[in-house]
This record gives sequence, C-alpha cells and structure tokens, in this order.
Amino acid sequence: MEIKRNILLNPGPSTTTDKVKMAQVVPDICPREKEFRGLMNDLRADLVKIVHGDPEIFTSVLFCGSGTINIDVCLNSLLPEGKKILIVNNGAYSSRAAEVCSFYGLPYIDLKFNYDELPDMNMIEKALNDDPDIAIVYTTHNETGTGILNPIREIGDAAHRHNAVFIVDTTSTYAMRPINIEEDNIDFCMASAQKGLMAFTGLSFVIGRKSVIEASASYPKRSYYCNLFLQYDFFEKTGEMHFTPPVQTIYATLEALREYWAEGETAKWSRHTRVFNAIHKGLDELGFKDVIKREWQAGLVVSVIYPDDPNWDFEKIHDYCYERGYTIYPGKIASSNTFRLCALGAIDEPDIISFFDVLKEAMTHFGVSIPVKYSE
Ligand SMILES: *Cc1c(COP(=O)(O)O)cnc(C)c1O
Repeated sequence: MEIKRNILLNPGPSTTTDKVKMAQVVPDICPREKEFRGLMNDLRADLVKIVHGDPEIFTSVLFCGSGTINIDVCLNSLLPEGKKILIVNNGAYSSRAAEVCSFYGLPYIDLKFNYDELPDMNMIEKALNDDPDIAIVYTTHNETGTGILNPIREIGDAAHRHNAVFIVDTTSTYAMRPINIEEDNIDFCMASAQKGLMAFTGLSFVIGRKSVIEASASYPKRSYYCNLFLQYDFFEKTGEMHFTPPVQTIYATLEALREYWAEGETAKWSRHTRVFNAIHKGLDELGFKDVIKREWQAGLVVSVIYPDDPNWDFEKIHDYCYERGYTIYPGKIASSNTFRLCALGAIDEPDIISFFDVLKEAMTHFGVSIPVKYSE
C-alpha cells in the first residue's frame, strides 16, 4: 500500500514512518485481554527508560488523550491541601498550566517572564523564599510556542532546595533532546506519542516518582477521569488502564519504540539537530529573522518573524506549500506575527532542502522579495 509522505514542519503531530502507520492495522482485540496487558507493561517500562529513570524509583502512567491531559493530571493530582503551585512562565504552554490551575481553583503563582527571555533564577529563588507554601514548581522544557529552552536543571535544583516537587512539561523534547530525569532534577515529566516518539495522538503519559504518586493518594481528588494516583493504582493492581485505552495508537507506539531503540538516543538527536541546522541555513539564505536568540533555542522549533512585505501572506504561502506536501505552522505569540518550522518527526536534511525549494518558489510566485525585508 502506497501512503503519501507529507513533511510536517508543525510542532506535532509529526511525520511518521510507514511501518508505524501500518502497525495500527491489527486484528481486533479487547484491551482487557492478557496479551494486551503485557504490551502495556513493556510500554510503561520503555517510557521510563527513555529518560534513564531507575525503574525502582520512577514509573510511567498512561492516559488516553492529547498531551494537554498530562498538564491537567499532574497539576490537579499532585497538590496537597493548602499548598501552592509556582509556575515559571515564559510562554504559551506554561500559560496553559496557569489556566488549568485557575479552572480547578488551585492556588498558584504565575511567575511571568518575557516570551523571548530565559526565566530569571533570582526571581524564582525569591518567590520560593517568600512563600513556604509552594509545594510544586512547574515549567515547560522547550516552550513550543517560541522554541526557547528553559534551564530545568537549575529550576529543579531550586525547587528541591525548597522541598517542592518539580514538574516539567517535556512534551516537545521527550525522545528527542536527551533527558536524564534524575540529573535534570525532574520529579515529573510528560509527553505524548505523536511528538518525539513519532507515533499518533491518543496516548499520553506522565513519568515520575512512585513515592510522590503514592503520597498523593491522600491529596484532594479534584478530577475523576484525570487523577494520577487512581490511574497508577489501577495499573499496578490490574495491569490495565482504568478505562478503555487507545488500542491502535498503542500498537503504533510499540513499533515507534522499536524504531527509537534501533535508531538510538544519540543518533536520533543528531538527526533532529541536522534538520534544525538545515532549517536555519534555509532561513538565513532567505534573510529571515528568528524570534529567539540562537543560543537559547532548544534545537527543535524555530520561530520566525514575518517579513515586512505587502506581498507576504502566511495563509497563501502555507497553502502553496501544503499542496506540495509541506506543512508549516503559525506562531503562538500574541504580540507579534510569527510562524514556526519544527525539526520533529521522521524527516532528515534532504526533506528540508526540498522544502526550501518549495518555499522559495512560493515566495517568488506571490512576489515576496528575496532576501526578505524588515523595516527595522
Ligand atoms: C504539543 C504540546 C502539548 C500538548 O498539546 P496537545 O495539543 O494537547 O497534544 C503540551 N505541551 C507542549 C510543550 C507541547 O509542545
């Protein structure tokens, strides 16, 4: 069977291999069968292994949903009564965490920084010193909205010195940029199958400390479907998800994991870096400007400023590229006009070179000047 290969340069879901696509086509099975439970057990172990977690200390808990379910689960489940969450916020995804807190009525401090700047460690220390009730420090590893890499090791260290649990949204780095859960001072991280693992939407997972999950059994239950302890406990007792798992997505993820181990952590990260560098090279040749300083970028998302050219119309450029098999994505910064090109997925340097041929063609077609112009 021929499946058209699209190059997704959006920040997930990512381009998948045909083998991963085809792995979804399996004989019908009831997920309560022993055979399926065994698969989920292996899957959970592999997810911990990717971040080099000691299986005695760390576990993974699966959920059926897109990546945002992890943010919801961690925040609503891991906060003891009367305590507070400190959100280190320099972008759209940490703002999403703040919204989750406000929806649940959880006490939180939204420590905001500019979207194009690294968080100030002194301000984080001060917030922690000022408020002994902070029990959770939360941030995003790679702010996918801009592509900035946050200093999680330092933030985690500060959290731990103040006896707080450190939760990191690693959705857009997991299984790409190498993570060592202990060395990076992470207590909980998260991702979903459609990003770094290069599988499909529907399976999300939280990886974290068993001891903290077990302690959270006595914390207030704020959600029925999205409680971390309840899902963990059900898994430990039965080997199953509490409610119906995304069966086909799990088969695809198992194939994606086989491909992950075959490619290897280092080689995979080199490939993403190759793609990322090719994106920069292509942008440089056309004269585009980045939003985030290069040395601060996480190596996976490039956020690009629209040129000041009356003929630049992102929608039209997007459609031109899309019709030729290349998907580019709008930005996620409220105050400025940007678009994004991402290095996720089963793609390599030649795909980026071909993409820039198409982008150049699109720009010429619509009369956008090359190199692009900026008024300042
Ligand atoms: C993709 C992503 C998510 C999850 O988004 P969904 O649309 O719910 O899958 C969460 N956090 C970050 C940093 C992401 O990049």
